[in-house]
Amino acid sequence: MPMKTPQEYIDSLRELDLVVYMFGKRLKSVVDDPIIRPSLNAVAATYSLAMNLQYEDIMTATSHITGKKINRFTHIHQSVNDLVKKSKMGRLIGSITGCCFQRCVGMDALNALSITTYDIDKKHKTEYNSRFLKYLEYVQENDLVCDGAMTDPKGDRSLPPHKQPDPDMFLRVVDERKDGIVVRGAKAHQTGAVNSHEVIVMPTISMREEDRDYAVSFAMPSDAQGITYIMGRQSCDTRKLEEGTIDRGNAVFGGHEALIVFDDVFVPWERVFMYKEYEFAGRLVEQFASYHRQSYSCKVGVGDVLIGAAQTVAEYNGADRASHIRDKIVEMNHLNETLYCGCIACAAEGHREPSGTYYVDPLLANVHKQNVTRFPYEIARLAQDIAGGIMVTCPSEEDLKSPETAKWMKKYFRGVESVPAEHRVRILRLIENLTMGSAAVGYLTESMHGAGSPQAQRIMIARLVDMKDKQKTAKKLAGIGDDAK
Ligand code: SF4
Ligand code: FE
Repeated sequence: MPMKTPQEYIDSLRELDLVVYMFGKRLKSVVDDPIIRPSLNAVAATYSLAMNLQYEDIMTATSHITGKKINRFTHIHQSVNDLVKKSKMGRLIGSITGCCFQRCVGMDALNALSITTYDIDKKHKTEYNSRFLKYLEYVQENDLVCDGAMTDPKGDRSLPPHKQPDPDMFLRVVDERKDGIVVRGAKAHQTGAVNSHEVIVMPTISMREEDRDYAVSFAMPSDAQGITYIMGRQSCDTRKLEEGTIDRGNAVFGGHEALIVFDDVFVPWERVFMYKEYEFAGRLVEQFASYHRQSYSCKVGVGDVLIGAAQTVAEYNGADRASHIRDKIVEMNHLNETLYCGCIACAAEGHREPSGTYYVDPLLANVHKQNVTRFPYEIARLAQDIAGGIMVTCPSEEDLKSPETAKWMKKYFRGVESVPAEHRVRILRLIENLTMGSAAVGYLTESMHGAGSPQAQRIMIARLVDMKDKQKTAKKLAGIGDDAK
């Protein structure tokens, strides 16, 4: 069966030789690094949950290539039901890990490419789709994690790729050989990059003919020669180096982002999925973005954790029966379930593309993601309101344990008599982690900018809404003739 156990996944990462830098030094072991490990644990959860029969229906699917049972993260959606299950899967894993579990970007890249490679072939009589399907089978058979790499550094935002003073600000083809191409550039903010077996590169914007060298898509093993990773910092990241677990908030799971540098990387033709077909760059971006905006069902799951933490701290504070606290919890749930409506709706309204792949409703996917840029901030604000100022003034775990201060900590950091101070501190640290610590990268800023910043969704909403039709109905009801102004 082509499904890895979590241990097999971790072992397979050990076999890779990634060039990763963090705090100015090359890492000897990515897998064992205490700052990276929680993010690896979160990806490993996508393997362990797929083994759990309780979640089999959500976490696994049947490959349309081999007919075998596979992890849903390597699946090409074959029905509306598949799309709905994908949304449910995001919420499920978010609610178990309380963080970004990283594997969705690869799934979304695979699905977008299954559509675009087919469409390019139809127009240009190329053979991208058969290449892609071969690659997909390899990914499915080995249950691999793929990093979907789209965002270029972009340099001067007012200039297109070919006019940048530094031509590497967008990843590009620098050489064409008989057996493949050579690419140079970088991809920024890459979620889960160093926990991945493969990196799938796509262009980041629509392109014109002058930008054709930048219209390139391909996949490479994550440890291919010429690829370097520089890890992003997260607020409170060095707490993961501390001995205790309390101050980390969530000591088991986390996420990570990295800059990936491609320094003249050779890509064999069989791994190239778009080569200078510039007129398809925009469509690939749009399809990946719509799928990934749907994937933000993950934040509903993280919201579940935060709401659970807020209710718990309210009880620990003895404030849970106050009407305004109850109302705030209702508001948090209302916002979170509204987010859920969006990711289910864009899936339920999905349709079949000519390639056979099912695609989400792009308007609803963009509306969903636009809500995600806002609601988690309000949910986080309410959680901080309920938690109280102690969330940011609470002394450290060391003080809770020190013989000199433990008695004062236990006495003065207790809320209701029945709950020890340590439990109260633990739940406060989890709220801190989710709303301003390392997990806030995932719950807040990633909600804002991941899968495209808010303005990107507004542009798509303006484009996709059928305004003429709305006006037609309004004019008809108002008794204004069709051709009247
Ligand atoms: Fe997946 Fe959500 Fe992380 Fe994006 S932010 S990779 S959708 S878990
Ligand atoms: Fe993301």
